[in-house]
Amino acid sequence: MHFIDLQAQRARLGEPLNQAIAQAVASGQWILGPPVKELESQLAKFAGVKHVVACPNSTHALHLPLMAWGIGPGDAVFVPAFTFAATAEVVALVGASPVFVDVREDTFNMDADSLKAAIAMVKREGKLTPRAVMPVDLFGQPADYRALEPIIRAEKLLVLCDTAQGFGATLDGRVTGSIGDCAGTSFFPAKSLGCYGDGGAIFTNDDELITTLPSLHVHGQGADRYDNVRVGLNSRLDTIQAAVLLEKLKIYTDEIETRDTIASAYNEKLGNLKPVIVPPITKGARSVWAQYTLRVEKRDALQAALKEQGIPSMVYYHRPVALQKAYAEYPRGPVPISEKLGAEVISLPMHPYLTDEQQDRIVAAIR
Ligand SMILES: *Cc1c(COP(=O)(O)O)cnc(C)c1O
Repeated sequence: MHFIDLQAQRARLGEPLNQAIAQAVASGQWILGPPVKELESQLAKFAGVKHVVACPNSTHALHLPLMAWGIGPGDAVFVPAFTFAATAEVVALVGASPVFVDVREDTFNMDADSLKAAIAMVKREGKLTPRAVMPVDLFGQPADYRALEPIIRAEKLLVLCDTAQGFGATLDGRVTGSIGDCAGTSFFPAKSLGCYGDGGAIFTNDDELITTLPSLHVHGQGADRYDNVRVGLNSRLDTIQAAVLLEKLKIYTDEIETRDTIASAYNEKLGNLKPVIVPPITKGARSVWAQYTLRVEKRDALQAALKEQGIPSMVYYHRPVALQKAYAEYPRGPVPISEKLGAEVISLPMHPYLTDEQQDRIVAAIR
């Protein structure tokens, strides 16, 4: 049994996928070939945004908007304490300070009250200027934007959504990518929409931001590639990866629906099993279920027992980013929920090709 079965997906995509890759190679336009522009336009349509810039990964897709906004030393960017390192990393890379905010126990996403407290703390201390908030759509579930947005608006902060795990999720009819001033996603193979290597994209409706982003991602180019008007990066998506993504995008909506059916079935089969807490399904929201994550007190014992029965599982994350050595010096308020989740979470096999039979085996093993 696979934790994520990408070979089953590859079999479904079949010959057209092989042809798309062969064509990208044969074209000789390996850097910024036609599939890249085509992907940007298809992604913009999918998310309902005006502008998309394809990137080589989501770390760059989150780094570039911070650069474009001129966020740097002396600035505070609020990030959840319970997330993948890249969220805080990009803030530190531009010289600003990540400020860690606790998460909600039910959805694992940024907690609005904790955000409010963290902003107040930064203002009280007076050393940093609050500039932006980076909500994360962790495990595929849209962050609690209904509660976060009024706070962010009142404080006049920028919103950069880390939707590396949540691309295509919806909240009240809005698609992730279109939420916030700007968003970055990842096409790392294990994400819900992945390519055959590293990949990512930036999404925005902001016409101002799009005057600098395309330049920043090609070494700050001006009139041409050898005219450098700002300090930038090499941050391009390979043509071959764009070709793969164009094929995968064709089945993505269908895959999201299947993921949702599988997650609901897990919830039904495990919901009344006392020691485990199943992830909530928020009214008006649709998760893309990048992970299906339970909470259980005896997590390590459960993981060992599953392993014995040949069932793969993963722990995202044993140690939240706020508690990692590299981020020890950055400010935070109390983050007790993030600390607790590190000891309790366990993610089960989740992908659109998981059969009922496999799911029943997993459920039986957990019971
Ligand atoms: C995977 C991930 C990233 C980084 O994505 P890359 O494409 O590997 O750079 C950033 N944030 C979150 C929440 C992620 O899960």
